[in-house]
Amino acid sequence: MMTTVNTVVVGGGQAGLSVSHYLRQLSVDHVVLEQADKPGEAWRNHRWDSFALNTPRWQSRLPGVRYGADDPDGFMPRLEIVANLDDMAQRLPIRSRARVVSVARDAASGDYVVSIDDGENIRTRNVVVATGLYQTPKIPELGRDLAAGIRQLHSDGYRNPEQLLPGAVLVVGSAQSGAQITEELYESGRKVYLAVGRAGRTPRRYRGKDANWWFARMGHYDRTVSELPSPRAKFAGKPHISGTKGGRTINLHQFARDGVTLLGRLEAIDGGIIKLKGDLHDNLAAAGRAEVEFGKAVDSYVASNGMSAPAETLPILRDGFDQRILTELDLAATGITNVIWATGYAFDFSMVALPVTDGDGFPIQTRGVSAFPGLFFIGLPWLHNAKSGLIFGVGEDARYIADRIAARCVGAIDRRACAHVAQAHTPSAPKRSRVTTKWADRAMTLIWSSALSLMLDGFATYATGVYPTAQHNPPQADSAVVSADATQSRE
Ligand SMILES: Cc1cc2nc3c(=O)[nH]c(=O)nc-3n(C[C@H](O)[C@H](O)[C@H](O)COP(=O)(O)OP(=O)(O)OC[C@H]3O[C@@H](n4cnc5c(N)ncnc54)[C@H](O)[C@@H]3O)c2cc1C
Repeated sequence: MMTTVNTVVVGGGQAGLSVSHYLRQLSVDHVVLEQADKPGEAWRNHRWDSFALNTPRWQSRLPGVRYGADDPDGFMPRLEIVANLDDMAQRLPIRSRARVVSVARDAASGDYVVSIDDGENIRTRNVVVATGLYQTPKIPELGRDLAAGIRQLHSDGYRNPEQLLPGAVLVVGSAQSGAQITEELYESGRKVYLAVGRAGRTPRRYRGKDANWWFARMGHYDRTVSELPSPRAKFAGKPHISGTKGGRTINLHQFARDGVTLLGRLEAIDGGIIKLKGDLHDNLAAAGRAEVEFGKAVDSYVASNGMSAPAETLPILRDGFDQRILTELDLAATGITNVIWATGYAFDFSMVALPVTDGDGFPIQTRGVSAFPGLFFIGLPWLHNAKSGLIFGVGEDARYIADRIAARCVGAIDRRACAHVAQAHTPSAPKRSRVTTKWADRAMTLIWSSALSLMLDGFATYATGVYPTAQHNPPQADSAVVSADATQSRE
């Protein structure tokens, strides 16, 4: 069966819904195809029960969504995010349980044919790929070497401590997911071992404001992908920070003080023995450096802008440095019965049957606009700038892409394709609200250059092809697995 529509949006997460919101405003005929039962699947079924956004409510700017302005500094729990997306979705043309299996281009007409898994083909003038970067939970291959009696879970499938077997837990990965899950587990009374990767630490609050307030003020979120020290820096793990329980700083030294055993990265699994790299102290030092650089950047910004902000000295904890460096861990002797892989996600855009990805498998585009007329991408971290992959910034990118789609109707020779566009539309110029200061630039150069330097061993691993699948595996700055230091986008 072949149907036609002006624009197909693939994926009904926040990015797909945001594009749909603007296309509807511009009266562009379109449909959003979502493979799951309902839109907002990632927040609905792929985060743990106690999850709360680590971005404050004032950063939740999905178009058309009211986010509870009475608590702008609070952090949305998972179900509130889902409710927001449900509210948004009810006004939009969404088809659920429609998995797109291919997007092909008819070279003669320039139209696209989008094929769905039920056999239907849709002919369309524009396609917006909004399938996100956190597509497939990635468990390193060495997970296969764990004994069958050990329960293995990816952070994507972790819900709460009750889900686990009785006994201790090894969490692999210390970026946002691994660190937050570790905290929940040990607070529930579990003995936890945490394999620490290279993610940095940001204090939740500093000098009277949330860290994200400072990042916004210093212009971080408006930094574009071209300003990164390397294209691969966009895959760096996010610093530890949490929005749960009103928002809190996560400090691995505090974990050590509270009884968590910190480990270096995983190198191998041999029977019931886990082999570890002796890099724990280096990794802890790297996390601490990120916090110091953040503090320096804020201090400099405050001074140079004549701001009044209460002085603050962040607590310096060292408990993790007092822990013995372990190079082996005997699972039976330590009572570990569960392993949680907080090791990131793989992504794969091969359903688009066109040469549209780079060597890392990341879409080649400029602000979401590909070289193929009518083919767009949205919702990826650093697609355009630092907020592109966040609820904070996806609306701006969505507006930009919707404008481009509407513009393809203005003066189009093929009026049929644009029959549903009510009125001619001229795209607005991209807005830049950036507050540029030399201190913001300095801060982010410091933070990103430390991420870059940590990527080198991951790069070497990538070349060995540890994950020889169709999914792409660019190096990951903070992976807690040495021999598989190649997960993708991590939170
Ligand atoms: C653990 C974690 C914590 C995060 N915390 C924050 C935070 O605090 N603040 C913040 O702003 N951001 C956060 N993010 C980042 C980001 O906001 C989310 O990942 C968000 O879900 C991305 O939205 P999206 O629409 O781009 O992609 P997704 O939400 O992943 O949506 C993609 C959709 O496409 C569908 N799909 C995929 N393939 C197909 C196909 N072939 N056919 C049809 N449908 C398909 C999927 O089912 C899914 O519904 C976090 C991410 C993670 C992983």
